[in-house]
Amino acid sequence: MDDRGPRRATGAEEPRTVLRRLRLKPGQNFIVRVLSHSYKGCLTHWVKGNGEYCPGPEDCRWHAVPTIWKGYVVCESWDQAATLWIPHVLEITECLEQDFRGVYRRGQVWNLTYKTKKQTGGAAALIGELWEQLDPYTLPEPYDMRPVLALTYHRQDVRLTLDNPMPKRLTVTASKGRPPIRPQEKFEGEPVQEGQYARLRESLSSAFAVPDEEKNGRAKQPQ
Ligand SMILES: [Zn+2]
Repeated sequence: MDDRGPRRATGAEEPRTVLRRLRLKPGQNFIVRVLSHSYKGCLTHWVKGNGEYCPGPEDCRWHAVPTIWKGYVVCESWDQAATLWIPHVLEITECLEQDFRGVYRRGQVWNLTYKTKKQTGGAAALIGELWEQLDPYTLPEPYDMRPVLALTYHRQDVRLTLDNPMPKRLTVTASKGRPPIRPQEKFEGEPVQEGQYARLRESLSSAFAVPDEEKNGRAKQPQ
């Protein structure tokens, strides 16, 4: 027995792949099962179309540019064509981390969808939906992420030590109540149109018109 662990009785070896970063783009969907026991991240700066690693304010060339947090976990993504789970290093966005927060456990299966601006009506957002929890003892141990991080940022000193600075999502409750009323429905009938007011005044004056005899009678009374 060698140090690579027990061999399969069937003999056929699964193809070996290079461990690479899995970074979803708007419109993409992946189903992954997570292998890392926990996650942390680092700060980056978006400079000329590239995410640059922030080593801290003292040593950072781009520190005037706003920071973006990125987290990383080892995962396996489901390849439907090959019917295999393919190892990857998943890049976690600030938005996806808010789905992971307080929920993440090794062995979970997540359905990841990067919704486009059109789908959200706002900014594009990577959304995670927890599908199932597998027995973590049946899964491979997480691989070393350092070669992938070094390649991603083109430096050897990438350290994942930071939590996402974005606040926890606030969940709120909808309220019951009567439906809203449009202002004109508060009055009986439609608002007065042009000409209606004149006709109304005419009909009122004829209804309350005092007959001539009465006028004369009243005029005579004091005598
Ligand atoms: Zn910086």
